[in-house]
This record gives sequence, structure tokens and C-alpha cells, in this order.
Amino acid sequence: MSKRDYYEVLGVPRNAPEADIKKAYRKVALKYHPDRNPDNKEAEDKFKEAAEAYEVLSDADKRAKYDRFGHAAVNGQGGFSGGAMNMEDIFEHFGDIFGDAGSPFESFFGGGRSRSGTRGQRGSNLRIKVSLTLEEIAKGISKKIKVKKQVACDQCKGSGAKDESSISTCDTCRGSGYVRQIKSTFLGQMQTTTSCPTCKGSGQMITASCSKCKGDGRMYAEETISIDIPAGVSEGMQLSVRGKGNAGKAGGPAGDLLILIDEIEHEHLLRDGKNVIYDLFLNFADAALGTSVHVPTLTGKVKIKVPAGSQAGKIFRLKGKGIPEVQGYGKGDQLINVNIWTPKKLSDEERALLEKMKELPAFKPSPGKGEKGFFERMKDFFE
Ligand SMILES: [Zn+2]
Ligand SMILES: [Zn+2]
Repeated sequence: MSKRDYYEVLGVPRNAPEADIKKAYRKVALKYHPDRNPDNKEAEDKFKEAAEAYEVLSDADKRAKYDRFGHAAVNGQGGFSGGAMNMEDIFEHFGDIFGDAGSPFESFFGGGRSRSGTRGQRGSNLRIKVSLTLEEIAKGISKKIKVKKQVACDQCKGSGAKDESSISTCDTCRGSGYVRQIKSTFLGQMQTTTSCPTCKGSGQMITASCSKCKGDGRMYAEETISIDIPAGVSEGMQLSVRGKGNAGKAGGPAGDLLILIDEIEHEHLLRDGKNVIYDLFLNFADAALGTSVHVPTLTGKVKIKVPAGSQAGKIFRLKGKGIPEVQGYGKGDQLINVNIWTPKKLSDEERALLEKMKELPAFKPSPGKGEKGFFERMKDFFE
């Protein structure tokens, strides 16, 4: 019997990357899956043919040999199965390419092909809100937080059993947690694996329950959890810490801890993405004469020089004084926005001084090329 080209079987070009080959196999295998094509010899052959092609093309070594020598390299020598696969082999070898949850094969096989070896039921996720200051966000922080959650029962250590002697190996599955069944199908006898109905996959039977947790294996307790929050997180972001949620039932795996970030508003600084903005108010005389001022930053006060003749709307930039990108590269700046404080209430003396000043030539507005008005600044901003 002459064989079809493996690439043709999966419908991929000869230079297809591994991921495409996997995807193509998944498609073909699903199409010709025996449970979708009962009593269809042609589909069965196609299904086996696809599995054989995938076995070779998914293995870099075998694929290279096949590319050079064709089917001759694959049949006989080299340890390739070369078409001798039976249905069970196919499911054993390639079942996992369909992933764990939601695999169509799971449902075809009655939901029993659990490979995770789960003992007991998984615990639920725990959700907590963590409030952080901008300073903490800027440098990242390790925090110890106290949470009230379900932990393993301290009396039975989570097993749910009264004592050692009340845990026995499940008779039905002999402790493996699953049972094999021989099913007669059009392909002949087919072996399927399902979760043990007696012990629900735990492999153990509990003859007497723990008196404290009544067999649940859990209790409520306060636990201190250390969490590392990377620099650059922002309001509403959610981080998850695997296995730090509620304990599982009767020794099952714990759920995850989900951390919701809450950003505490800063007294002086406003966050804008990775930058922080500070509004500096100068009195008119200081802006005209030039001055030095202390401005708050996320890492303490910084002294900046305001040159003589600084206009309102001028922006000073403190490079790198912002917030790092959460992915780890790049850091924002602190922008200092200059505002000129106009007096609101004047005494007679102050009024007289200003009346005198305003007639002087230097006080007549004469914006030159260097002075950018609002429109110019907006243009700069959007360019
Ligand atoms: Zn207990
Ligand atoms: Zn069992």
C-alpha cells in the first residue's frame, strides 16, 4: 500500500512550523475522530493516518529523517511505529495535544481522562484588595498581608480522615483513582479510562471522618501571606498568586490568591500613566527674577532652579522620576507644570505698587518666538 505524504495528510506546507503542524493535526483528528464518525472505516483510516503523520512531523529528529529519505526512513528502522499504531496508542500519545480543560476528547470519553491526578476538590480563589501608595508602586513592594481563609484542618492535616487507620485504599481502583473499561466498538475492543466512581478519583476511601472538620479537610484560620508586587502596577490591575487561595477539599489543590490593586491618591502628585505631574505655583516676582524651589517627588524632595523670566505653562521635566513600566523596561518622568500665582485680594499699598509697575515697559506682554502660548503647547503635545 503506498502511503500519502505526511505533509499532505495534515495539509501543511513542508516548511510549516511546529505549532502549525500541531494545529493541523488537531483539526484533522477532530474531523475524523471515531466518536464523531461511528461505523466509518474511511474516517478511522484517516484518523490513524493523521496520527502517524503527526507522530513523525512533531518530532524534529524523525521529521528531518523523513524530509531526507521519505517513508523509507520511517518504516522499519529508526523505531518509528510506521502505521502500526492502534487506537489506544493514538489516544495515549496524542490525547494531550487537546489541552486539559475543555478538550473535546474529554467529553467523548465521558469526562474521565483526567491526567492531573487531582485528589479531592480544588479550593476556591481568594480575592483581596491591596492599597498602595504611589511611592510603593514606583519601586515595587513585598507586603505581608493577613487573610482569613480556608486552610488544611490541623487535626487531620487536610485528609478529612479520623486517623491513619481510617484511610484505606479504594477497592474499586486499587488506589489509582481511575478505572479502565473495555468498550466494544466498531474498531474492535477499545480501552477507555474514567475517574473511579467509588472514590471520585482520590484513590482512597475514608472509613471514619475527622471529628473537627467532619471530613471536609479544611478549617478557617488567619494566615499571613507574603506577596511581591512588581513596580509599575496600576489601579484595577489584578495579580494572581498560584496556590495561595482557599485550601482544597479533602486534600485537593488550593485555589489562587487574586490581588486587586488599589492606588491611593498622592497628596501632591498626579499619576498619568508612567509619568507623574506636579503643579508648581510661583509668585509672579519669583517667576520674573528666577528662584530655587523644593518640589516633592516619589523619592523625596528635589531642589530645582526656575530661570528668570519663566512663563506660566512652562513644563520642567525630571527624567526618570516617574514610574517604571510594569513589564520591566522604561521609566516615566516627573513633569513640573509652572503656574503663576495671581494675587486675589490686594491692600491699598499693594494696589499702588502694581499700578505703578504696570506702566513700566517690561510689564507689557510681548511674546517672542521662544514663548509658546496655549495653542503652541498643545501642538507640541500632540505631535
Ligand atoms: Zn480534619
Ligand atoms: Zn477508587
